[in-house]
Amino acid sequence: MKLSSRCLIFALLALSAILSSPRANATDVGRKEEAVASIEKRKAEMIKLSDQIWAFAETALREHKSSEALSRYAEQQGFKVERGVAGMPTSFIATYGQGRPVIGVLGEFDALPGISQKTSPAKEPLEAGAPGHGCGHNLFGVASLGAAIAVKELIAAGKLKGTIRFYGTPAEESVYGKVYMTRDGLFKDLDVCLAWHPASETRADVDSTQALVDFIVEFKGRTAHAALDPWNGRSAADGAEAFTHGVNLLREHVRPTVRIHYVVVKSGDVPNVVPEYAKVWCWARDSKRAGVEPVLQRLREIADGAGRIAGVESKFTIQSGCYEILVNLTGAKLLQQNLEWLGPIKYAEQEQEFARAIQRATGTEQKGLNGEIKPLKEPKPDPPGGSTDVGDVSWVVPTLHLSVTTAPESAWHAWPVVACGGMSIGHKGMIHAAKTLAATMVDLFEDAKTREAIQAEFKEKTKGFVYKPYISDGPPPLPKE
Ligand SMILES: [Zn+2]
Repeated sequence: MKLSSRCLIFALLALSAILSSPRANATDVGRKEEAVASIEKRKAEMIKLSDQIWAFAETALREHKSSEALSRYAEQQGFKVERGVAGMPTSFIATYGQGRPVIGVLGEFDALPGISQKTSPAKEPLEAGAPGHGCGHNLFGVASLGAAIAVKELIAAGKLKGTIRFYGTPAEESVYGKVYMTRDGLFKDLDVCLAWHPASETRADVDSTQALVDFIVEFKGRTAHAALDPWNGRSAADGAEAFTHGVNLLREHVRPTVRIHYVVVKSGDVPNVVPEYAKVWCWARDSKRAGVEPVLQRLREIADGAGRIAGVESKFTIQSGCYEILVNLTGAKLLQQNLEWLGPIKYAEQEQEFARAIQRATGTEQKGLNGEIKPLKEPKPDPPGGSTDVGDVSWVVPTLHLSVTTAPESAWHAWPVVACGGMSIGHKGMIHAAKTLAATMVDLFEDAKTREAIQAEFKEKTKGFVYKPYISDGPPPLPKE
């Protein structure tokens, strides 16, 4: 067939356009654009769902309405939902598609006690003493589910092949629901898992988190009249006091990365009765699980010694704990490419003013909101403070972790985060997180080479590793309603 010269020029132009089109990797950018468009189309529904969960503000293992709202939405979108996994009534797994690859995305939805707040830039509880979403988990769950739905639509249209799985993971703030789900093997057949977290900046995470152990020490003594015959009593409160004193002496002799914090939960009722029972609740953390172990051994010995000092029985019980996050740098690079592809989050002047008002009220520098994409940095040897049960997941399956701006820099786990999570600042971060996760998942489905590189890094870093969770058999203790 003879082409006219005009046709030939057109053909050459089209060919050069294809060859020079921006491609982050082996993925068809058009599919990512479809995923982003799907989230954009569902934006109003996602915001409504997130605001509902924000208003429910249910704490660990009490998230019945929040879990139901998310799982019902997943079902309406055609996912197969399995509720109550790993012995937790508020956990669920929503699955769509079949065969490999199997890509998972985590979604949290629990609130924190006592930090109820209106969507206002000044401290103003919605209901005094009630819980609030001070860690932005109302946004976390919805963004991850929104991303899973966008991927599901591409699978349904025959444009992607494999399985997408959304994990409804309860009780991140205490109890650590994901540890139970990991122990029960619910993540082990995933090729790759993704998670994000609300934050005051937007970045692909290359820093780990702290490993943690959560335990209680109970002391049992003998009661007596505190003035009439104290020599007949053995004070459990003395045991608790000796223990906390011992903990504070230990602080000088641990590595600088170790953190130990405790509260005395119970220490008698009135001064004129020698207390029979006392209880201290304690957490110890370090950059790595290996660093937590020797500290835990010292704490056991201190508890034992404290019981001897006070002449009472001591009982040491590990309640829970989590590993540090195992960072996957290949995965972080992929997240970074997608963050950069989407560009920064843009804010209106009223949103910046709202953020600065929060910063004025909390004595933070008035920098406003930062929606810029942070460049990928070198991982630090020791992470900043904080722990998450995503850590346990990351040791059994390669896990990619992202932070997205949903609040300005100010106090976290506090009213400013609750305020922003119920209005446009939080909503924008949530939608941005959903789009980044969805675009990255499209890559993971389509680009076997990148997926294999992520898995190879994971295999190398987990050579010889045996997973040992800090929990005992059976489900977690459920709260008494
Ligand atoms: Zn959180």
